[in-house]
Amino acid sequence: VWTEPILHVDMDSFFVEVERLDDPTLTGKTVAVGGPGPRGVIASASYEARRFGVRSAQATSTARRMCPELVVIPPRHERYSEISARVFSVFRSFTPLVEGLSLDEAFLDVSGLRKHYESPVEVGEAVRTRLRTDLGLPASVGVASVKFLAKLASEVAKPDGLRHVRKEDQLAFLHALPASSLWGVGPATLAALSRLGVERVGDVASMPETTLVAAVGPTVGRHLHDLARGHDPRVVVPDIDVKSVSVEETYDQDLLGREVVETALLAHAQRLSGRLRRAGLRARTVTLKVKYPDFTLATRSHTLAAAVDGSRQLYQAALELARGLDVGAQPVRLLGLGGGSLEPADTPTQLEIGHEVEWDKVEDAVAEVRQKFGDRAVGPARLLTGREHPGSSQEP
Ligand SMILES: [Mg+2]
Repeated sequence: VWTEPILHVDMDSFFVEVERLDDPTLTGKTVAVGGPGPRGVIASASYEARRFGVRSAQATSTARRMCPELVVIPPRHERYSEISARVFSVFRSFTPLVEGLSLDEAFLDVSGLRKHYESPVEVGEAVRTRLRTDLGLPASVGVASVKFLAKLASEVAKPDGLRHVRKEDQLAFLHALPASSLWGVGPATLAALSRLGVERVGDVASMPETTLVAAVGPTVGRHLHDLARGHDPRVVVPDIDVKSVSVEETYDQDLLGREVVETALLAHAQRLSGRLRRAGLRARTVTLKVKYPDFTLATRSHTLAAAVDGSRQLYQAALELARGLDVGAQPVRLLGLGGGSLEPADTPTQLEIGHEVEWDKVEDAVAEVRQKFGDRAVGPARLLTGREHPGSSQEP
């Protein structure tokens, strides 16, 4: 089990970098996005401009005084939203457990990717590489045991870096930071803390909870007491509720005959298994959807004794459902296979009697190859030849 499964990914000067995507001549220059008028405010500053003291939330007039060469670009929020959607689909291609904080930052819980990557750091680097190569955008990543530490780590990693805070080092990392870095510490709390002589998070940590409560009230006091010890019970809450995962295909030519349909179901089971595994999820219910040439639709669901993510188990369930519908008796236009009642793959399950551990290993190896080379890289011989080769995947 990974001890630091939480990633905080934060795009570097996002608005500026989007402007640079659309106008590469801005690269390397002192650029800021903000209102250019007399009452304008800077929304995002390039790192080149930050060297002159330009900051976001600064009046544009101040920024221009600090950096006379500053190129100020009026914001184009629609464009940033458009690119933000692409950024988030990169995040979600790694895990569905993505919690957005704004257009350009999110928490990712990557604990489900243990079988596909060596470490959460490797996941973080893969996310950064994808953002760079697919979208042309730099991002920084913090990797830690809990959310607020991951966020502090990405701050330290900036620009264009990754910071891994190991669990055994997290208190040393945290205690050296200024007290203002603790989540929820605003100016009033900070003033109250500095009256107590608090400068660093370490000072907060060494203070009795009663003293903190007396100084800043019970809610904030207890919150700070916990945070200063690295405690943060909040989990990553995905923006999109993941209720089911499914694969579906409408065929150019209607499928006819039981064997043809079963071969198609095998392909579906493999794709569904790949999706579940990449998401770190298992399905407790399996649903088969069949559409006929006259557009009538039939669906059947089955609840399993234990949640599964393996293609063979999914295929077995699909076969039973298909036989219940007597597919093969008439042509099939569309086939869908879905997994519902999802649970994290980490949930301990009792090994079923007769459960073959060896087969699990094969499936894990297959999942790994797919993760690297795509869904179609490996599969049973039956799918490769298009002829009937039931092979081991059909054994009960
Ligand atoms: Mg950012």
